[in-house]
Amino acid sequence: MKYFQPEIECMSREDIRAHQLKHLQRQVKRIYENVPMYRRRMDEAGIKPEDIKELSDLAKLPFTSKQDLRDYYPYDLLAVPKKDIVRIQASSGTTGKQIVSGYTRGDLDQWANGFARQLVAAGGDENSIVQVSYGYGLFTGGLGAHGGAEKLGAMVIPTSSGNTERQIRFMCDLGTTHLACTPSYAMFLGEAVQRMGCRDQLKLKAGIFGAEPWTEEMRKNIEEALGIKAHDVYGLTEIMGPGVSYECGEQAGMHICEDMFIPEIIDPDTGEVLPEGSFGELVLSTITKEGQPLLRYRTRDLCVLDYSQCGCGRTHVRMKKPAGRTDDMLIIRGVNVFPSQIEEVLLKYGEVVSPNYQIVVGRENNTDTFDINVERQPDYTGDAASVEALLVKRLRSQLGIGANVHLVDVDSIVRSEGKAKRVIDNRKLHD
Ligand code: ADP
Ligand code: ZN
Repeated sequence: MKYFQPEIECMSREDIRAHQLKHLQRQVKRIYENVPMYRRRMDEAGIKPEDIKELSDLAKLPFTSKQDLRDYYPYDLLAVPKKDIVRIQASSGTTGKQIVSGYTRGDLDQWANGFARQLVAAGGDENSIVQVSYGYGLFTGGLGAHGGAEKLGAMVIPTSSGNTERQIRFMCDLGTTHLACTPSYAMFLGEAVQRMGCRDQLKLKAGIFGAEPWTEEMRKNIEEALGIKAHDVYGLTEIMGPGVSYECGEQAGMHICEDMFIPEIIDPDTGEVLPEGSFGELVLSTITKEGQPLLRYRTRDLCVLDYSQCGCGRTHVRMKKPAGRTDDMLIIRGVNVFPSQIEEVLLKYGEVVSPNYQIVVGRENNTDTFDINVERQPDYTGDAASVEALLVKRLRSQLGIGANVHLVDVDSIVRSEGKAKRVIDNRKLHD
């Protein structure tokens, strides 16, 4: 099986655009008629649904922000009567108060298609055994991956996250072929497999890892530790969940389900739409979602869109790995720092340090303090001072700012079963 829905995944660009325009027009009309917030904003901007005549007219529509989902929490952005909503999911709350999203039966079906496309792109089919080690519950990871695997007709093992030894025992006993979890949990599972000495009993072929940023170096580590091909999957609760975009065997960016979403890249400061190939904030409009459709949702994720032909034959645009979120960015002594930049440097020294690290920012005497704790590799027995000095130097040239690096003992940084907590910012209390 090469594609889950070839007629959609491999549509010509012309057909994608025609499909998008038709659905955008319908969706804007439906939203205008059913969601008071959008009607008010469009009226204020002097825009009527009939003004959407071509795809570029999308730029005339107002943006939607995460704050809007908080302000209109929990039901005021629904475009259908509450009785048509069959599921509620909530964001992880990484960056503040949780938001919720309501799904109709049709929305769940589309979501399952998105994740099933991902599974097939990772070599899956109805013979696959998919272990879902994302947390189940309000978080979209567990139920999202579950729905996709069932839709594909694979066998699902709904372990959820946690209880690591049992996870690995099931993986060996049941012959799991595909593992779905966060990349940080995949790392953790990789370590545990090594500890338990059972790597040769695994039948794993591929992993589908997402919900948080991870680097190419981390990908290599996971692939080696588990002996698999690791695919990146992207999604967010506001828009759907994992499967908004998914990575094929080329491992060169994630195909956005363009039949469901229209992506744009904007300048996060001015809101201006940027030309093709620019790096900026990803904005998504849901053109087929029924329950809680959003227009021009500002994801705050920073990336680049690639419209070039992909070797896999899929035609949907690819988004490059998000470099981080606009709100992940730390400003330390006036310099912009993304955790992903730090991770990239640390992982270059994989012989000595492990990818378990934590960034601690504080303030003393009106100056920011910046510390990075990173675990040494179990078999590294050399001295800490020279490693720390080397990392300080490399980080300074990468970030343009000095950090104190501390090589710490194996297992001294708390492992995550879901999204990793990489940053502790003691300068302010988050909301
Ligand atoms: P929260 O915003 O509370 O974490 P979600 O659980 O909905 O809520 O997480 C969605 C966010 O997770 C995305 O906006 C993005 O920042 C991050 N994310 C999801 N998948 C990936 C991925 N593959 N790479 C990088 N970041 C990702
Ligand atoms: Zn591809």
